[in-house]
Amino acid sequence: EELVSAEEISVSSTSGKLPVSKDAIINLDHGDPTMFESFWKEMGEHGDIIIPGWQAMSYFSDVTNLCWFLEPEFANQVRRLHNLVGNAVVDNHFIIVGTGSTQLFQAALYALSPPDAPEPMSVVSAVPYYSSYPAVTDYLQSGLYRWAGDASMFDGDAYIELVCSPNNPDGSIREAVLKSTNGKTIHDLVYYWPQYTPITDAADHDIMLFTVSKSTGHAGTRLGWALVKDKDVAKRMIKFIELNTIGVSKDSQLRAAKILKKLQETVKASDIFSLPVFPLALCKFTGEKAGTYPAFAWLKCEKEEVEDCEGFLRKHKILTRSGRHFGVEPKYVRISMLDRDETFDLFIERLLMLHH
Ligand code: PMP
Repeated sequence: EELVSAEEISVSSTSGKLPVSKDAIINLDHGDPTMFESFWKEMGEHGDIIIPGWQAMSYFSDVTNLCWFLEPEFANQVRRLHNLVGNAVVDNHFIIVGTGSTQLFQAALYALSPPDAPEPMSVVSAVPYYSSYPAVTDYLQSGLYRWAGDASMFDGDAYIELVCSPNNPDGSIREAVLKSTNGKTIHDLVYYWPQYTPITDAADHDIMLFTVSKSTGHAGTRLGWALVKDKDVAKRMIKFIELNTIGVSKDSQLRAAKILKKLQETVKASDIFSLPVFPLALCKFTGEKAGTYPAFAWLKCEKEEVEDCEGFLRKHKILTRSGRHFGVEPKYVRISMLDRDETFDLFIERLLMLHH
């Protein structure tokens, strides 16, 4: 997520905190998952963790594992959670931990791009795509890979297709649009959890990305994981993380392990995942028909005279993200639904005012 714009830092907005006043700037531009805060407050000390000063000091976590910086307890909880929820097949995959799924995305691009190709590998995704994909792909101007835009418009044989499902920004359930046997795919499944969408199948793709940011809401812990089928691809991803950050925070992994464990216990005991209003598909996890609760609202401005919906809302001190960042027209905006209730209530109030 491209989080912070310079103009935003200097003003009072709802980023990272509750609205301070009725006329505060409402920042629904980024997907900061603070809506889960109240759940974890209810859990009280059950989500706490104490790490003694002498613990977790070494670079290494488990030298017998291909991913030597992966904490065994974190890996255990990841495995157990997927088996409980049934959203992904873990058994035939390597688990790789990363500093957010953002680092793993870059590790995957590195791993899937041949080092000796004459041209950089084309990286594509169907519009509207997650706004960080082009930026993260191109910011280092790598010779290995290069952003090539809308997957549906791509003509060629060698590519990496990013498949985000449920999709950011519009919540759609997606499959790869390109089908070449030479092509590679990265499945960004960070929203494939029952709080967002019915779990209809255990995903079993070559590379699947997940993150605590969207599953438990702990975006600040900066922890993601990849499930990777091929051993050589896994090795190259691990190499990338070794070169990039020499591993991943153990403190974060230990905290995430505890949080994931608590989540499973709670989920087993109760139904924290809200029930659907409009039944759409059978969720194999809850055993009930469930609707879709996307993390973002993908809004089209129907007012004839408004070309730039982001600019229009900005005038009313509501920050959203323009369709342009996702490869479509500025009549669209993405509104984050992941914020605290207080921020969202204020947003609804202000929208109603716009009507009058
Ligand atoms: N993929 C998608 C589709 C996202 O929406 C986000 C967060 N906005 C990420 C990846 C990155 O998540 P993180 O780096 O926090 O794991």
